[in-house]
Amino acid sequence: MALESFWSGKSSEQALRETAVGLRAANWARQKSLGVTVIPSNDFSFYDQVLDTSVMVGAIPEVYGWKGDNVSLATYFAMARGAEGDGHNASCGHPHHGHGSSHGAPAQEMTKWFDTNYHYMVPELSPGQTFTLASCKPVDEYREAKALGYQTRPVLLGPVTFLRLAKSKDPSFHALSLLPVLLPVYVKVLQQLVAEGCEWVQIDEPYLVLDADREIQGALQMTYALLAEMVPGLKIMLTTYFGALGDNAAAALSLPVAGLHIDLVRAPEQLDRIVAAAPKGLTLSLGVIDGRNIWRADLSALLKRLEPVVAALGRDRVQIAASCSLLHVPIDLELETGLDLDIKSWLAFSVQKIAELAILGKALAGDRATVAASLTASDVAAASRKSSPKIHNADVARRMAAIDDTMRKRNNAFAKRASLQHARFGLPAFPTTTIGSFPQTTEVRNARAAHGKGAMSDAQYEQFLKEETARAVRWQEEIGLDVLVHGEFERNDMVQYFGEQLSGFTFTKYGWVQSYGSRYVRPPVLFGDVSRPKPMTVEWWRYAQSLTKKPMKAMLTGPVTILNWSFVRDDIPRSEACRQIALAIRDEVTDLEKAGAKMIQIDEAALREGLPLRKSEWNIYLEWAVESFRICSSGVTDETQIHTHMCYSEFNDIIDAIGAMDADVISIETSRSKMELLDAFKTYKYPNEIGPGVYDIHSPRVPDVSEMAELLSLARKRLTDAQLWINPDCGLKTRKWEEVRPALVNMVAAAREMRQAS
Ligand code: GLN
Ligand code: ZN
Repeated sequence: MALESFWSGKSSEQALRETAVGLRAANWARQKSLGVTVIPSNDFSFYDQVLDTSVMVGAIPEVYGWKGDNVSLATYFAMARGAEGDGHNASCGHPHHGHGSSHGAPAQEMTKWFDTNYHYMVPELSPGQTFTLASCKPVDEYREAKALGYQTRPVLLGPVTFLRLAKSKDPSFHALSLLPVLLPVYVKVLQQLVAEGCEWVQIDEPYLVLDADREIQGALQMTYALLAEMVPGLKIMLTTYFGALGDNAAAALSLPVAGLHIDLVRAPEQLDRIVAAAPKGLTLSLGVIDGRNIWRADLSALLKRLEPVVAALGRDRVQIAASCSLLHVPIDLELETGLDLDIKSWLAFSVQKIAELAILGKALAGDRATVAASLTASDVAAASRKSSPKIHNADVARRMAAIDDTMRKRNNAFAKRASLQHARFGLPAFPTTTIGSFPQTTEVRNARAAHGKGAMSDAQYEQFLKEETARAVRWQEEIGLDVLVHGEFERNDMVQYFGEQLSGFTFTKYGWVQSYGSRYVRPPVLFGDVSRPKPMTVEWWRYAQSLTKKPMKAMLTGPVTILNWSFVRDDIPRSEACRQIALAIRDEVTDLEKAGAKMIQIDEAALREGLPLRKSEWNIYLEWAVESFRICSSGVTDETQIHTHMCYSEFNDIIDAIGAMDADVISIETSRSKMELLDAFKTYKYPNEIGPGVYDIHSPRVPDVSEMAELLSLARKRLTDAQLWINPDCGLKTRKWEEVRPALVNMVAAAREMRQAS
């Protein structure tokens, strides 16, 4: 709020800074009152911690016109949002695309932080990069806390991870070669912190949970040896998260640091090994409270696990912590007054997690009596969650057990299906279609909000949506698209819309988590066995199809995407939850077919981003992800055409899985890569049909006919004409009708040109 108000010019920098001071003070006070013993600082950010690090070390590309002085907020936000500050283009609900303004300085690129849905600003470095201490934020905030009476442990992003995350325009660039010139800046910051009285710092090196890499191990060795030598008075808590140290364990344990933090939620099995191998004197920070999910911990079970560790290492050498930063969970469960009380009793948000840590800390310090009531409450919640009929559904269990091979594959192979489908549809060569959504205009959003508040009746809202849909269908016919969509006006979000209609999901009111900058998302909570009480999309599809003789694609979100964009259960494997969702979507697919739908699109926008951090674990994930897609899409006859859509472009390393999904038609994002990513499909000899996006929907620009024709001719170099569909990169919900109309008219014209020429 304060940020948006500052960006829009409604409030001053001074006011923004004062708000920040107030927020930090309140956060520290809250942690203290909850009983936290290790209080962090420098965990506050105006936008993003990686950007803070770029700024701290003076890695500020030339375009931002920085003069080498202390970095101003204007420069900082120019890096975050572009100099024109017109915000981001987040068309897929998930801003994995570049963004920024067309003139002035563009924003830095942003991308996902490891396997989270948080997006960081990618540091941009050049081969001759120099670094300098350009912001004293860690020191300032340490001092600020100290003045309020808190001895804090500042948090810094580690130099090795920082460099590994950086990109350069120069392809020969080798990030880690910059380590020797970067480290002096870290030394300076740490020395200043020591001079201010700082005893411990936390330095994050999450690269330690990725596949072992000798070069990274060497870089870490060099870094921490130098820091130990140059800043001898300081204790470093080297922090890892999002997975096991695995084959990096020995390397991590050999670093000259005072403490090591490990993630015991993602990798509980590493505890004994690390405890046994930890050198004498090393403090271990045990990340036992889940920083990535919203479940309440089973405190008694944790105590049982932790007590022997404390006994073995001694109390002084053990700290108890969240598995990772609590940035990835919502703030306070108490605000959720509308939740089912049982479900609420199984949850913990950030504030509750901090309280859990304090309880564990006290119990481990031998003070069980004062926390006895809390431990009992935790036991009760854990027991009720294990047996609650709200979670466990015998029907779902039966259906899961009955999944067999026939449910995992279509009746016949693609070639046979394709010939049946071609005969059935009689589409022209290079058929044209769109990905599903049409502009979510202010009127659409206002109507939804009014309906939500009760200001618009169900009947009025339905009437409104019908008119929008009818207009969109009529217009698609007019401009001559071959396969139509209904426009998704009734949907708030491609996952939420389904979550709200499936059993096993619930929604919070204030469960916001940061996606990037000032953007937050509120993921659905998958708490129980999933089933579909009744059809979810059939009526809208039926209505839309009644308006036209052309094929109307039904539009669904796939199980992997629903799973990956939700908070999911931790009491069953992800794969199992995914299969349950797949069965529910399969029911919907079957009902759509029964209602007469001949083409059904199942979007898997988030399939790729679910890939595990370690390559060695990819296959297992891809296997169950593909299986889930096949379960939901295989309940139809050969004549029914299954489409899927993925709005990204790196397919090289997952092309086998894409092939195994066996969708009849896949639409993908290709316009910005100039069709190069189709090489993966060509090399693989992908047999099914493909719509490579010819219109970059992330930009307001309207591509003209020749531009799209040019892209199509590039596509034809890689695919056969019989395979090709023509469509935009993704859904059009973030665009304006003024942009969409001419763009799609041009797209249809480009298709007609191609037909004539061939
Ligand atoms: N069918 C969805 C739409 O068009 C797909 C969105 C997505 O892939 N992110 O909006
Ligand atoms: Zn998309």
